[in-house]
Amino acid sequence: MKVKAYAASAPKALLEPFQYDLPTIGKEEVDIKVHYCGICHSDMSMINNEWGNTQYPLVPGHEIVGEIVAAGREVKGLEIGDKVGLGWFSESCMHCQQCMGGSHHLCGTKKQTIVGRHGGFADYVRGHWSWAIRLPEGIDMKKAGPLLCGGITVFNPIVLAGVQPTDKVGVIGIGGLGHLALKFLKHWGCEVIAFSSNPDKKQQILEMGAHKVINSRDSEALKTIKGELNFILNTTNVTLDWNTYLSCLAPKGRLHSVGAVLEPMAISTFGLMGGEKSVGASPLGSPALTKTMLDFCVRHDIYPTVEEFPMEQVNDAIKHLDEGKARFRVVLKPLMP
Ligand code: NAP
Ligand code: ZN
Repeated sequence: MKVKAYAASAPKALLEPFQYDLPTIGKEEVDIKVHYCGICHSDMSMINNEWGNTQYPLVPGHEIVGEIVAAGREVKGLEIGDKVGLGWFSESCMHCQQCMGGSHHLCGTKKQTIVGRHGGFADYVRGHWSWAIRLPEGIDMKKAGPLLCGGITVFNPIVLAGVQPTDKVGVIGIGGLGHLALKFLKHWGCEVIAFSSNPDKKQQILEMGAHKVINSRDSEALKTIKGELNFILNTTNVTLDWNTYLSCLAPKGRLHSVGAVLEPMAISTFGLMGGEKSVGASPLGSPALTKTMLDFCVRHDIYPTVEEFPMEQVNDAIKHLDEGKARFRVVLKPLMP
């Protein structure tokens, strides 16, 4: 089968139409017709080879929802015609300690959808059945794509850290991931402080459920909530005043980063020690937790706030996101019916 896609051929290059042949389907693989695909900041980092692992031509796109059009003979639990989502991971070994323990996202040989393989800025994409997550009945396909990466990436740490409905929490950076974190934490029952560097977003951030907005780059403003937060989730990839953020944590609080901060984070052990505080990070989440999150989203009508672009305007869409204009996640729609 020929796949029609958009690909980058070099760092910072514009995406151009690109076709490739899918080899014969593997016995545990599914082919998905892409209905919608979100644009995550990680797509931009991959296009620009910021992490040093990009292989060109690169077809980005890992926030995919669509329909199964082909399935290998040993695919489990899915059939042609099923609606599924595919995120950053698209294969894991299924037999290591992590996979057997349900943490497929920690498998040592897992495959990433746009690393060494082609992603969802295309009419079709391929993955292993275990990462093609069946979508719940009634889900809004137009908005669901970003849940498969941005959504599960912020949902997983809320579960991992054992965030309680009575907790007071913070989210740094209200972009694609951050605005979803706000929506989840509001429905969790928490008091939520948003840390944003963009005053133009303030009204929308409050409408999404934040109780208060603080400038993420203003260390003096951070000091007004010293010792108050049980959990802070960082979704930015920049260097901020981490030690002042640590001082905003209550004893036993956790600063957790899902943002791929490019520079090492300079953290004072003294900022952690006295209050038994912790710092951590995580990638996405397991297929089972992704399914749980999708059910939670449908139950509470939690979706990203999206702007839709036709796939043919992918370069305009990327520029829009790059300039910080996205409110709050861009979703691409392929032209084909
Ligand atoms: P995004 O939509 O571009 O949002 C990032 C937000 O960070 C911006 O909206 C902005 O929020 C804030 N920001 C950007 N530059 C800043 C600066 N100079 N100073 C202060 N704040 C700044 O990106 P995203 O798609 O949410 O992705 C966020 C990060 O998560 C990226 O690094 C991405 O690669 C990573 N990621 C990681 C995983 C994982 O598995 N851990 C999964 C997906 C993505 P304000 O305007 O509110 O300040
Ligand atoms: Zn992503």
